Amino acid sequence: SAKESGKARFERFDQSMQQRARQRLKLESNVLQALQRDEFTLHYQPIFDLNAPNQPPVAVEVLLRWSHDGESVSPAAFIPVLEESGEIVSVGYWVLEQACRQAQRWQQEGAGPLRCSVNLSGRQLQEADFVQRLREFLQVTGYAPDSLVLEITESLLIDHDPRVLASLRELADMGVRIALDDFGTGYCSLGYLNRFPLHIIKLDRSFLHETHENPRQFTICRAIIALSRSLGLAVVAEGIEHLSQVDLMLQEGCTLGQGFKLGFPMCADDLRGLLFP
Ligand code: C2E
Ligand code: MG
Ligand code: MG
Ligand code: MG
Repeated sequence: SAKESGKARFERFDQSMQQRARQRLKLESNVLQALQRDEFTLHYQPIFDLNAPNQPPVAVEVLLRWSHDGESVSPAAFIPVLEESGEIVSVGYWVLEQACRQAQRWQQEGAGPLRCSVNLSGRQLQEADFVQRLREFLQVTGYAPDSLVLEITESLLIDHDPRVLASLRELADMGVRIALDDFGTGYCSLGYLNRFPLHIIKLDRSFLHETHENPRQFTICRAIIALSRSLGLAVVAEGIEHLSQVDLMLQEGCTLGQGFKLGFPMCADDLRGLLFP
């Protein structure tokens, strides 16, 4: 009967929900131990001057990688778990210290000025001693504050946390650059671009993705670039997958970009190959 088959369907649904919940629990307990178990590594995606995409990159974005039981888990799956538990704070400090140390090493090897861009979660900036800890990493590694870029997201700004704003101001005063990541996908009003100490806008890859098929979307993209530039903000285009997008961005005055067409995220050794061709 319909009632019976409905019940069976419900049980199947229930089972798959349970399975998903179990998988998530397993993921959670495992990722919370990943730092002690040394399972995290960093990858680096090159960021290029689009006028010279065949020259060594001018910056790198640091991307966290977790490999567990021989499998690599996507940051989209495990970062939220780290954030909910608060463990992102310790992991984030680890990322920052490693990143500063690596970037400083490349500079010492003769790479010239190399900006290093690190993603931050909101939780990290709510820590009372975040700025102090970061100062210590910079001192210990010797990496210059004005070479470091911290990427934050729009959601962090719309929360209006006074602690976060104070930390951003202090960071900017030290010379650290602040980038607004995935810009255009959140709920940030344009007025925020003035209200916060920001230096760089990272144009979300969805805008580039649609440049071919959707001229209206490109109009928005063009307006964001123009607005950012007139506010004195640098613009980095994310998600360049076709060479034609390089030309489009250059036409609009966006001279920095990253994407699979220009360079995948890669381990430190591979990135060294790009820096010292
Ligand atoms: P994100 O900061 O926007 O980083 C860029 C993401 O886009 C990376 O994904 C990168 O691999 C991907 N990407 C780069 N070029 C292209 C392209 O041409 N096409 C496409 N389709 N994708 C491209 P990934 O490494 O999976 O990281 C996902 C997100 O996880 C990051 O997005 C960032 O929000 C977060 N994340 C990564 N590492 C960290 C970290 O150390 N701390 C924190 N808090 N978040 C991190
Ligand atoms: Mg980012
Ligand atoms: Mg991004
Ligand atoms: Mg993005």
